[in-house]
Amino acid sequence: MPRQILLIDDDRMQFRLVQAHFKNFHADRYTLEWAATYEDGLDKLLFGTHAACLLDYQLGERNGLELIREAVARGCRTPIVFLTAESAERIDIEAMNAGALDYLVKGEITPRMIERSLRYALKLGETLDALRRMATRDQLTGLLNRREFERILTEEEERARRFGQSLALVMVDIDHFKRVNDTHGHPVGDAVLREVSRRVAAELRTVDRAMRFGGEELALVLVQTDRKGALDVARRVCRAVEKDPVLVGDTIALNVTVSAGAAELPVDAKFGPALLNAADKALYAAKARGRNRAVPFNEV
Ligand code: GH3
Ligand code: MG
Ligand code: MG
Repeated sequence: MPRQILLIDDDRMQFRLVQAHFKNFHADRYTLEWAATYEDGLDKLLFGTHAACLLDYQLGERNGLELIREAVARGCRTPIVFLTAESAERIDIEAMNAGALDYLVKGEITPRMIERSLRYALKLGETLDALRRMATRDQLTGLLNRREFERILTEEEERARRFGQSLALVMVDIDHFKRVNDTHGHPVGDAVLREVSRRVAAELRTVDRAMRFGGEELALVLVQTDRKGALDVARRVCRAVEKDPVLVGDTIALNVTVSAGAAELPVDAKFGPALLNAADKALYAAKARGRNRAVPFNEV
């Protein structure tokens, strides 16, 4: 499959030129798509299907630097190679600081240079993705790690407060997990933890986040969700884990359950850490009441 490269440039001549350059190197490896305006370029870029982007500085009223900043702020991870008209060193550096991975000076571009630059940006983009993943995810479950979760919780808390929206937190803990380890060994315990994490994450909307809080305890941040909504999610999570036995290898089938506690900002707690505390108290109550159930903080 050829990889799709996006060119954002308001100049049709430049598009023809890049297109001609593309024909001069492994034409089967890349295809070129063109966006002629800032808005169209940003839309296409944010769609996220391009392997890399060639971005011109001059874009009508606006410029490529603004576009990089806006795209990055909106979560764009596509590698960007910046194109400048002449050796304008300050702009090149600004573009790199804004998030471009490489730059080319328009008048000096050759097919080889474009190819080299694209290959470099794609490789660097992959490396950055891997690093980002390592820095933000828990290795065993693939869920967010605690540091990333705390960053997100703080961010969502601010957003919820500014827009007067609710924010909910659900704590989930596997029931009698120690028994799994004691009976079947640690590697089986790990496999169960992975499968439970997968089932829990599958119950969430894409805007919500799941984290491995520690050991066999997971935490969920649910945006624009009140306590009742959070309780629904918590119950769904319990059911999703309980529904089918967890299979490990060909011989082991385990009935696994979780308990969950739900709390809402700002009614159950005034700020993030207290919200964690409230959800944890609710979780504790769910354990005390027999496990395999969800309890909201107001019923503790
Ligand atoms: P409860 O229903 O009260 O939650 O009982 P529990 O046995 O699940 O609770 P407890 O907190 O006593 O035990 C948690 C166990 O989880 C103990 C620990 O060995 C195990 N555990 C924590 N992290 C991991 C892990 O990464 N892999 C495996 N296999 N086990 C883990
Ligand atoms: Mg447990
Ligand atoms: Mg525990």
